Order: sequence, then structure tokens, then C-alpha cells
Amino acid sequence: MPASLSADFSPEDIARFGNNPAESFAANLREVKRRIAAACIRAGRPPDGVRLLPVTKTVPAHILRHAHAAGITDFGENKLQEAREKHEVLGDLGICWHIIGHLQTNKVKYLVRFASEFHALDSLRLAQELNRRLDALGRDLDVFVQVNTSGEASKFGLHPDDLLSFVNRLPEFPRLKPRGLMTLALFSADAERVRPCFRLLRELRDSVVKLHPGVTQLSMGMSGDYELAIEEGASVVRVGQAIFGPRPTDDAYYWPGLTAPSGG
Ligand SMILES: *Cc1c(COP(=O)(O)O)cnc(C)c1O
Repeated sequence: MPASLSADFSPEDIARFGNNPAESFAANLREVKRRIAAACIRAGRPPDGVRLLPVTKTVPAHILRHAHAAGITDFGENKLQEAREKHEVLGDLGICWHIIGHLQTNKVKYLVRFASEFHALDSLRLAQELNRRLDALGRDLDVFVQVNTSGEASKFGLHPDDLLSFVNRLPEFPRLKPRGLMTLALFSADAERVRPCFRLLRELRDSVVKLHPGVTQLSMGMSGDYELAIEEGASVVRVGQAIFGPRPTDDAYYWPGLTAPSGG
């Protein structure tokens, strides 16, 4: 680790990330990559067919310098304000920023300045505002359409029945490049309740791609379920805690649903 990075740990940092975050992130990353490759092989897929998107939400910016030192150059964040602040402080690192959480229309103007990908497109109003702001900057944005595959009221995303008509309208917003679909599965330790969410997203993709050949990717799977997601066809897995350690559980916001998973 570069000496200049080692001086700035608070006791809280050390309690959460240890004495050598770069080393532990790198070790965790190797393990996640090993599991991704193993899941690909189990599923009869090429081992390099899955993109790992590290999710950095709640990890403070000064700690993320150590993530960068560990070789991580793509950061997934679910809160625009947090992403924005980190982008400002870490501008020198050349990070690719991926916004993966629900976005309010009034935050679009910030997102378009620095995000390279948006995984939570879920309304035409948002599509319209994104397109308008992108057009003003003369840039395009890769987007994923979020689908609610678990039927839980706490989850964002389109109802599966509304997906095709939604995607049919996206050509009205030429600055948006729809690359695929995104979902958060049911939180459950029971794989046979989680799997149908991933399977549904894949089936939806299979029908949407016939009319929209660019919509090929599946952004699905997190620390607790990415191997299952890969077995069901994930192209991008969004993994936070398996790389950066557990998040503080008292902060319910940072769970993609409204409450921390019970594991049951
Ligand atoms: C937090 C989050 C993840 C990653 O969850 P982990 O449990 O940290 O792997 C994935 N997707 C979204 C949308 C998230 O908000």
C-alpha cells in the first residue's frame, strides 16, 4: 500500500475495514471472481461472460482510494448525492461511475455529468428528463430498465406486464442506450424462492430482445445471490458486501429494499 494512503484511518475505519483495506478488498475480490468463474462453469457459460460491478455505497471516499489501489475502477452507487460527493473528491482516479438505485427527476442534472451507466430506469418521466439533460451535454447514457420481479411493494421497478410497452417507447429518447434489464430479487435464504425472480427477468429479456436487439444484458445478483443469478443468466452482478464487508445495519436506507434482510 502506498504510504500516503495509510495515515488516514480512524478507529471506525479500522473496525470496519481493518488495517489494510487495499489488501482485504483485493483478497475478497479474488474470492468473488473465483466464485463467479465457478458459477459460470456450473452453468455451462464462458467464465468471462459475467461483468462484476463492485458496489461502493456507504464506503467512505478516503477508503475508496484503497479500493482503487486494489484494482477496482468501476464503482456502483445507489444514492446520487453520495455518488456525486465521491466523484468530486476522487476525480483524479478516473473511476467509471454506475448509478444503480432509484433516481428522482430533480437529480438527473447531476447524474448526466458523470455517470457512465444507470441501472434503475423505471419511468417515462425519468427517461424524458434524462434524454433532455443528456442532449444538452451532447452525450449518451447506457441504461438498464428496472423490473420488479418479486412483486414486493418495497421494491422499485416496472411491473413485468408493463415492460414491453415501456421499452417500445424508449426510441423517443435517443440519448438513452437501453442495454438490458435490472432487478433485485426477493431477499430470502431459500434459493428456490429467489431463483424465479432471476428466471423471470431472463424470460422478459428473451421476449424484449426480439424487438429491441440492443437489450441483451441482465443486471442481477448481489452478495447474497450472485451465484444463483449467474446460473440464471446474469450478465452483470452488483456486489458490495462480499468485497467491502458488511454495511452498518442500522442504516436501513442502504438496503436495496426498505428493511434489512432477515435471512429468512
Ligand atoms: C446495495 C446494492 C447492491 C449490492 O448489495 P450487497 O449486498 O452489498 O452486495 C446491489 N444492487 C443495488 C441496487 C444495491 O442498492
